Amino acid sequence: MEINEPTPLKTAGQEGGVPIPSIAHPKVITLNVGGRKFQTAIDTLRSESGLLAVNLSEGYTWEPQADGSYFLDADPDLFEHLLRFMRRPEVFPLLHTKADGYNYDMYNRLEAEAFYYQMDTLHKWLKAKTYLQAFKTEIGAPVIRNISFVSQYMPAVSMPEIEKDEKIHILACMRKVYLCPRQIAAHRGHADLCGQACHRRQAENAVMYEDEPYWQVMTMKKKVVYDEEVCRIGLGSSEATLDPDVEEREVN
Ligand SMILES: [Zn+2]
Repeated sequence: MEINEPTPLKTAGQEGGVPIPSIAHPKVITLNVGGRKFQTAIDTLRSESGLLAVNLSEGYTWEPQADGSYFLDADPDLFEHLLRFMRRPEVFPLLHTKADGYNYDMYNRLEAEAFYYQMDTLHKWLKAKTYLQAFKTEIGAPVIRNISFVSQYMPAVSMPEIEKDEKIHILACMRKVYLCPRQIAAHRGHADLCGQACHRRQAENAVMYEDEPYWQVMTMKKKVVYDEEVCRIGLGSSEATLDPDVEEREVN
């Protein structure tokens, strides 16, 4: 699919960017983005942004301000990410902190900005929300926890021996418990404690058991793993994860 025709930036004295021949731009230019200045090679801007490529082409005039900078009415905090990508187009932005997780608002704004500047690779990556694959939670093998330990602490919220990042599974289980024929409480569940008197009482009778519910507690370690390949082109999976369906641009 063809990239839609870029909208030339409005320039002083030039409504809609009418082509004017032989306007030469300097190799290094200063952009004034919403009041913040960015200095960069003009080729950096041209190579990744379809919009800037047109507006900085010989055919279009985009008049600099009195100080020689080129003004863009845009959010400099967002533009900083765009420029960083234009400079190193193989590294995608990771907007994530351990405390707050993903910065969805920033990603959302950045996606709109990448669309506006016609930064197709970045836009596709953002629109597909590929960044969501950068952090994965791995669950370790289940460990069965000691019952007596649990009964000691249940239902206390904090179980000191279980770490915060462990996933806890509690299963309601049933087991058969041996009953002493003389109903001696201390022998319950311990046939080996029954002596001759117990065995005489047992005689020919069937051994008795009782159903007893208990909790089986399993814990699994949760580990958050960062996969840097998701944010890199050429490290393997990231290009493959770009969904071809999302490259559709809306053409007016
Ligand atoms: Zn007994």
